[in-house]
Amino acid sequence: MQKMNHPLLKEHHHALREQIRHFAETEIYPLAAELDEKATFSEHLTRRMGQMGLFGMCIPEEYGGRNLDTLSYIIAVEELARIDGSQAVTVAAHNSLGLGPIHQYGTPEQKKHYLPKLVDGNRLWAFGLTEPNAGSDAKNIATRAEKTSDGWVINGEKIFITNSSSALAAGMTLLACTGENAGKKVYSTLLVESNAPGYRKEPILNKMMWRAADTGRVYFNNCKIPAENILGQEGQGLRIMLETLDSGRLSIAAMGLGLAQGAYELAAKYAKKRVQFGKTLINFQNISFKLAEMQVKIELARNTLYHACWLKDQGLPFGREAAIIKLYTSEIAKEIADEALQIHGGYGLIKSSDIERFYRDQRILQIGEGTSEILKLVISKYV
Ligand SMILES: Cc1cc2nc3c(=O)[nH]c(=O)nc-3n(C[C@H](O)[C@H](O)[C@H](O)COP(=O)(O)OP(=O)(O)OC[C@H]3O[C@@H](n4cnc5c(N)ncnc54)[C@H](O)[C@@H]3O)c2cc1C
Repeated sequence: MQKMNHPLLKEHHHALREQIRHFAETEIYPLAAELDEKATFSEHLTRRMGQMGLFGMCIPEEYGGRNLDTLSYIIAVEELARIDGSQAVTVAAHNSLGLGPIHQYGTPEQKKHYLPKLVDGNRLWAFGLTEPNAGSDAKNIATRAEKTSDGWVINGEKIFITNSSSALAAGMTLLACTGENAGKKVYSTLLVESNAPGYRKEPILNKMMWRAADTGRVYFNNCKIPAENILGQEGQGLRIMLETLDSGRLSIAAMGLGLAQGAYELAAKYAKKRVQFGKTLINFQNISFKLAEMQVKIELARNTLYHACWLKDQGLPFGREAAIIKLYTSEIAKEIADEALQIHGGYGLIKSSDIERFYRDQRILQIGEGTSEILKLVISKYV
């Protein structure tokens, strides 16, 4: 594999990319089409990704993590998405949305209790923000948690939650209303284990994309958790969830970049092989220009994403850059998957072609963790 030239890439980044690329090509790729076709979440691959150290990548070693920088984690997600979006999101949702807030806002006791058992791929942790009547409008959540003499009692439901319904789903960081102050809702974040009484999970079936990833719906019916399971302070919940989404957007961007790279490579390979009018497609300028435009978009996306990772690792504000690159990569993933499919002609529309799966998988990227429209609202606040 040719080393990528980029000023932010160090030797350990190159080594990690090579390791994950090899793993994704040899262990994920042979299973990806069938898992997608059968819409099956793979415990086997999840555990293998755990053995590869893909869960808890940025968690300190004292909690069993690898203590890697953000760029390393992003490269891993990018390489998984180059082969299979479903495995990429399983890793990304667990690392950035699941472990991220516990690592960032947890007390030493909470970190000691949760993190070591969530770094090996045997248990997954989810991020419960979205509800049936609260998608983009997060403040409209209806899930409530009442404080009692010995803990919290939760009632409500969460929908479209990644890593929340499989046998490996161990619980979630959840946003709930915990009261009112001067007529305004008070939001708090709670850590809820899936074996808590009153916790019920079910899978959402028949997705068009990420068919091998676990997306679930979770119901809380007088669900009881201990008092110490609050993450941060009462009233900080919305801020914790929204700040977590800044990091989550880097992951979605990595998925868009990896998917775009994979689709580009599929199209380039096909264009060099398919002969029409006595020439390979690549010899038609119309086709080679499409591939050139893909390269331009991928190059710009990679530079901006890696820069946003660098900002985060320097402790500098990166919310604007994360929103920009999430919006950009999810949109170019759509354009590139579409053009890559066009290059495949009719064969691209048949399930046996990999590009067909890429074409479906890109569609979530403009919706999850802030739709493209909401991201424009976020970015416009910086004008
Ligand atoms: C496969 C999958 C996995 C997911 N994983 C998770 C997860 O792990 N955790 C989690 O909490 N959520 C998760 N989500 C939920 C996801 O984040 C929401 O679907 C997303 O935020 C959009 O919410 P919505 O679907 O309710 O759409 P809505 O908010 O109803 O939006 C519908 C349309 O209206 C537009 N719109 C809404 N408000 C405005 C506005 N003010 N201005 C302009 N346009 C607007 C939107 O852009 C969109 O086009 C997941 C979703 C899917 C499909």
